Amino acid sequence: MKTLLALFFSFFYSTLFSQINLLRVDSWRDKVQAALSIVLLNEPAIFKEIVAKSTIQSGDLKEAGYAAFCDVQETPTGKILWIMVGLDELNKSSQMEIASIIVHESLHIQNRLHDEPGRNWGNFTYKEKQREHTQIYNYELAFLKNAQASNDEIAGLKRLMRKEKIPIF
Ligand SMILES: [Zn+2]
Repeated sequence: MKTLLALFFSFFYSTLFSQINLLRVDSWRDKVQAALSIVLLNEPAIFKEIVAKSTIQSGDLKEAGYAAFCDVQETPTGKILWIMVGLDELNKSSQMEIASIIVHESLHIQNRLHDEPGRNWGNFTYKEKQREHTQIYNYELAFLKNAQASNDEIAGLKRLMRKEKIPIF
């Protein structure tokens, strides 16, 4: 985790998203900014509660086997919220799909903020993970529909849900 973090470089983004630290890679700037606008428009509460307080960064997560992940780090001065999006995802995903990934990770963060101390994703059982993912993926699916994602984008998420054995509501 620490090695991974060292690879990242964050910076102060723009006035609209001034609280958000975002990766500094120019080719993704427009796509990620558009994704953040989609989240702000469709999920203003999640945006204000989580996304605006998070450091959004990217790195090569291929070896870790993740598309994205998040973390809440306890520090003496408070909690640091992280959302990590894999380079692969940034390259291949649409702005809508990136928005959906950010919503997904924000919901994990929201749950972690309400967890009892000592509980974290790493010590969840498979059943606990599936329970949380059933809630999150279905929320994400509703988000895509509300945000008027394309049929392909919606079908892509459903495909992933079936692969992960998540019931679709
Ligand atoms: Zn997840």
